[in-house]
Amino acid sequence: MMNQTCPQTPFPKIKGPRCKHDKIAIIGAGPSGIHMAYRLKEEGYTRVTVFEKNNYIGGKSRTINYRETPHDMGTVYTQPDYTEIYKLVEKFNAGDLLPMPQPDVWVDENNPTFITSLQNSIRILQGLRPNVTTVTGPSIVIDATLRYIGLHRAMFGDYRGMMPRPCPAVLSQINMTFGEFLTSNNLDALRGLFFSIQTIQGYGKVDEISALYGLIWVTPNFLAQVLVPALPSERKVKILSKGFQFLWEEIARQNKLNVRLSSPVRNVVRLSKKKGFYVAYKDKHGICGERFDFLITTPEMSTMTDVIKFDAQTQEMFLKSFHYYYTTTLADADFGIKGANPQDYYYYNVEKGDESVWASRDSYSSLNLLIDGNYTVPNPGGQQLKTSVYYQLTEGKPKRQTLTRKLRQHVLSTEKASNFKIIKRIRWPYFPRYSVSDMATGILWDIFDRQGLHNIWYIGSSVYFESVMNIVEYNNLLLKQFLQ
Ligand SMILES: Cc1cc2nc3c(=O)[nH]c(=O)nc-3n(C[C@H](O)[C@H](O)[C@H](O)COP(=O)(O)OP(=O)(O)OC[C@H]3O[C@@H](n4cnc5c(N)ncnc54)[C@H](O)[C@@H]3O)c2cc1C
Repeated sequence: MMNQTCPQTPFPKIKGPRCKHDKIAIIGAGPSGIHMAYRLKEEGYTRVTVFEKNNYIGGKSRTINYRETPHDMGTVYTQPDYTEIYKLVEKFNAGDLLPMPQPDVWVDENNPTFITSLQNSIRILQGLRPNVTTVTGPSIVIDATLRYIGLHRAMFGDYRGMMPRPCPAVLSQINMTFGEFLTSNNLDALRGLFFSIQTIQGYGKVDEISALYGLIWVTPNFLAQVLVPALPSERKVKILSKGFQFLWEEIARQNKLNVRLSSPVRNVVRLSKKKGFYVAYKDKHGICGERFDFLITTPEMSTMTDVIKFDAQTQEMFLKSFHYYYTTTLADADFGIKGANPQDYYYYNVEKGDESVWASRDSYSSLNLLIDGNYTVPNPGGQQLKTSVYYQLTEGKPKRQTLTRKLRQHVLSTEKASNFKIIKRIRWPYFPRYSVSDMATGILWDIFDRQGLHNIWYIGSSVYFESVMNIVEYNNLLLKQFLQ
């Protein structure tokens, strides 16, 4: 049982651009690059250029509009910690935040049974402790929640934004997987909840992922709020009426950000300290180059080691990180077996091998809060077809044929639907992460300490955590530590 109280280490002051007219290059027009460009402009920086290799803004916030409905293929959900995102949505008038109906958890492949995440927690606990009943189970889960919250606060204190660097004693105590952390603190009653709010979101199986990642993502506020039963219209998990890509596009448009699409940065050469950087990028004219004073890089840092010659220590840190893949496929099918809710988590598939279907979401029903199991009126296009986004997680880059075979099999055999047709598929490198032992060295905070040292800031999901809330909060912290 851990009860270590950790004194908070303040974040260091960091270096940044020398003056408001410095030329600043940002690599990547995903959420972190667009948000940083907007915040710099707000602070009076006048010469910020964003280079983007794709022909669209948004990176992993990608929305496909199909059959008059926005289908989010990447970023989709917010939870109660997303206050900074809520402020951006309101400020830039980027649509409405709508309640996301709760998921149906499928626990038996041969006999489809749909249960809630809380019921799944109790079911898992019964597997570990046969004397737990459906009557005693809920209070055991609530007790574990309260103890988790107490433990979290004792170890990390109360904080907003990036978790402050844990003290060495706490880091050594959590040099383990999240599952080991739960078991050693008698918190196994939360496994079913974490399956829904962590594993299915692609943030790792509890028995594989560093305890620190679990503790970063599942904050006391998040856990407390998702556990409170809510009417469908009051659910704390929200989705965006126009999709997530629209938010970043609007921020770029309304702030007249200088974004160069279809312009992959191929190489960055560090000139003398005063002269800054030479950025070589490709556009429709071929390879071009431009000098900049300050560099901000957002893509997964391990991929940038080929593009930028980082100093040896930084390079070594970035090369230690790795990712899995989360593939999303937009597909049509008619209605087969389904529960009441438009979101399904396939519990039994998570333990199977690669490419199994982990989850699916019917965007039209989700956005319209249709929780009756079927459309009552013809959906867009007039047919009674369901268009869903399916999620398949793999460790390595998945093969398209295998993804299609497993997805088709799922739709036809498990859902017992027909008229299956794939509309769009994206294989996303997902959740750049460090091993359990690297995390226990405090590597995320070591990276933060190196910000600005060589006139470079490293931002985006790979330097902290794969969520738009975390990348926006990281940007805000960086600017605060620079501007103070
Ligand atoms: C399937 C899926 C579901 C998700 N669901 C959620 C969710 O529900 N909630 C949530 O908060 N988050 C979610 N996320 C995570 C969220 O989308 C990411 O954390 C976020 O997009 C990270 O932003 P970023 O700017 O760091 O990186 P990215 O979005 O990856 O943007 C980086 C950009 O850099 C560009 N780039 C790369 N190399 C170069 C180069 N050499 N030159 C120029 N440009 C380059 C890329 O094209 C990209 O546009 C999800 C992601 C996926 C894939």
